[in-house]
Amino acid sequence: MTTWHDKAAAVQADGRAFINGERVWAKSEQQFENLSPIDGRKLGMVARCDGADVDIAVAAARAAFEDRRWAGKSPAQRKRVLVRFAELMQKYGAELALLETLDMGKPIKYSQTVDVGGAANCIRWYGEAIDKVYDEIAPTPDSNLALITREPVGVVAAVVPWNYPMLMASWKIAPALAAGNSVVLKPSEKSPLTALRMAEIALEAGLPPGVFNVLPGYGAEAGSALALHMDVDCIGFTGSTRVGKQIMQMAGQSNLKRAWTELGGKSANIVCADCPNLDAAVEAAIGSIFFNQGESCNAPSRLFVEESIKERFLEKALALVPSYQPADPLDENTVMGAIVDATQLNTVMGYIEAGRTGGARLLAGGKQARTETGGYYVEPTLFDQVDSSMTIAREEIFGPVLSVLSFTDVQDAVRQANATPYGLHAAVWTSDLSKAIQTSRALRAGTVHVNQYDGDDITVPFGGYKQSGNGRDKSLHAFDKYTELKTTWIQIG
Ligand code: NAD
Repeated sequence: MTTWHDKAAAVQADGRAFINGERVWAKSEQQFENLSPIDGRKLGMVARCDGADVDIAVAAARAAFEDRRWAGKSPAQRKRVLVRFAELMQKYGAELALLETLDMGKPIKYSQTVDVGGAANCIRWYGEAIDKVYDEIAPTPDSNLALITREPVGVVAAVVPWNYPMLMASWKIAPALAAGNSVVLKPSEKSPLTALRMAEIALEAGLPPGVFNVLPGYGAEAGSALALHMDVDCIGFTGSTRVGKQIMQMAGQSNLKRAWTELGGKSANIVCADCPNLDAAVEAAIGSIFFNQGESCNAPSRLFVEESIKERFLEKALALVPSYQPADPLDENTVMGAIVDATQLNTVMGYIEAGRTGGARLLAGGKQARTETGGYYVEPTLFDQVDSSMTIAREEIFGPVLSVLSFTDVQDAVRQANATPYGLHAAVWTSDLSKAIQTSRALRAGTVHVNQYDGDDITVPFGGYKQSGNGRDKSLHAFDKYTELKTTWIQIG
């Protein structure tokens, strides 16, 4: 039987950009090396695109938009192409999942289900939605007819991170393409391979050349050239809060392009003593922080447990931690894989050190693992006796590190939960319906979970309050980002 290792040995990754329907190297001929975090193997060379390539790709996207080769198709025609795109993503699912795992380090089991499955579902959903969305007629006096119609904004740039490369790309490109825009996508330099392959698959599905272009490269080169470009109408960004602020500045400094940001988080998970199912709360707290090696924007990295149940909670939590020990990402049974690269590994280890020296109590993990592989792995790590002033309670770590804090009344937990610049997700566990509603109202976060943490569906908006960003990905609300509202007044009689 062919194993994932056999298939991995045969992979020949193509790191060339995808512009106007063709694979090309950067104009400058510059390239960078792409190493796999699972064992340090070289996957290949990647085009190091910069401003010159951005100019070419934006011109191709603009030409495609202006001649209406895609925008001019009926919603039903666009639907057919996007549904076909989703079907082909599934047809090539094994290849895409393998590339995702090799490039980014996540377990192959999740690359297949969460990443390929989630991205295909997202593309299909926006395709299917677009011919069911109606425009409006305003209730104006009889002498006029006022039409309120949605139009694509034009050329959309999408700049995305490495933690869910296909999924984050599809949350941007699917609504943008469904609405009729042309897109230039810049994947992270740490994980460019699947986005490039997606562009080829979209072409095979019938998307006209020039409508979807993918430029790999560094943020400060290709990314900033897109954010500053005078002919990009809108930028959809997912990444850190630090870079999100720069994106908004660059949008303002150039042509005031619409700038939408999905940024970092430091989500609070509040478990009250009257939690209806302690085992479920423990499983969610541990499973959600260690999922994707802790590299999830909405990871519940601050766990607030009511003092009276904390000992019992931690006992159960510690029993679960060993099942998240990192293992071979190409083994179907693995649930925790590799950290994306050496830089991120050092960041995570630096935070673990800050936890130790800052006075928190290390209950589990804290060390690198599997160093003999040449890859980057960190043990699932749990700190107790954390207080809100400590670095590990304030800053986004983006690794498998959980900080446990305690509280005596839920108002105090909410106050501490809100005392962060972030506002992405939060959760409360209680049997008291009024307490659940009051707490979820008081929490300043784009999503609040009650008695669970894994609620997730393409039909539901995803995004942040405060410095976790603006606008929403997923759901029909995402169309707000990639369309303009046009009012047309028509005189009658
Ligand atoms: P990052 O901000 O370093 O990079 C994100 C993207 O921006 C990459 O493609 C990068 O090349 C590009 N970039 C970097 N500097 C740039 C610049 N000066 N100009 C233009 N582009 C630039 O983030 P990351 O490390 O790739 O991803 C992790 C972050 O993403 C975390 O903070 C995480 O919380 C966040 N994230 C948020 C969501 C969400 O939906 N809110 C989802 C996933 C990840």
